[in-house]
Amino acid sequence: MKFEIVTIFPDFFRGPLDYGIVRRAHEAKLIEISVHDLREFTTDKHRTVDDRPFGGGEGMVLKPEPLFKCVESLGVAPRDRRLRQTVPESVILLSPQGELFTQSVAQGLARLARIILICGRYEGVDERVAEALADREISIGDYVLSGGELGGAVIVDAVTRLLPGALGNERSAQQESFTAAQKIAGGGPDSTCASGGLLDYPHYTRPAMFRGMAAPEVLIGGNHEQIRRWRRRKALEKTLRYRPDLLAREGLSEEDRKLLAEIELTKSTSF
Ligand code: SAH
Repeated sequence: MKFEIVTIFPDFFRGPLDYGIVRRAHEAKLIEISVHDLREFTTDKHRTVDDRPFGGGEGMVLKPEPLFKCVESLGVAPRDRRLRQTVPESVILLSPQGELFTQSVAQGLARLARIILICGRYEGVDERVAEALADREISIGDYVLSGGELGGAVIVDAVTRLLPGALGNERSAQQESFTAAQKIAGGGPDSTCASGGLLDYPHYTRPAMFRGMAAPEVLIGGNHEQIRRWRRRKALEKTLRYRPDLLAREGLSEEDRKLLAEIELTKSTSF
């Protein structure tokens, strides 16, 4: 997978992509990351990338010319072919107005061979970039950041860990929060149930007793069926508490419904 990042702050990426899984994926040549300095695609002596907004208003706007020049210099496939998905390439504009970045968007991107990430700054980017240069706009959440760089790093990270070979253990990616149910290749102990689109279950490690807080007995007992059931219940509990929207979307099993009824019952009797 090749990531190419277009930014006015190329040094920004020295840190965040140099650790852990992304670093190892880079070293193993699973990914390649090129950072392009937008100012190199300007023609005036001040290397101007921004200008005042037409119609007045606050702040500055990233000009279209350097962005078009930069992306065109990368030799990407024509936009209509990218939009028809006949080439495994995508040009993405980071923008709070874009479609929300989710695990399933990350899974879609992980199937591509090349992703170009355009990072906005200031008040944003001339709209013609969204209309005619980028294939899509992606937002990493309902909040406003000062620039697209953090969003770009988020996408690189989330997509990289989905690439085959990036995680030490292929199964971990299938069992994490938000990951829709799928058959785990080669089975695997029943206690490591996939999240099935819910939030992950809670994790504990040694020591079993820490400052008077005990790790749950059931996890130490070694009964896989009990552990699986406990984890599923905890995943449902957490999802119900923080993300009931995910519960509504998932096709819950008979067992899930029973566990949810138990959870509701415990809630109404413990006060
Ligand atoms: N005026 C814009 C905000 C611009 S923020 C608005 O109100 O919608 C400047 C740049 O930061 C944007 O062009 C975009 O590239 C980036 N950015 C800000 N918030 C973001 C988010 N939630 N997701 C992705 N990129 C974001």
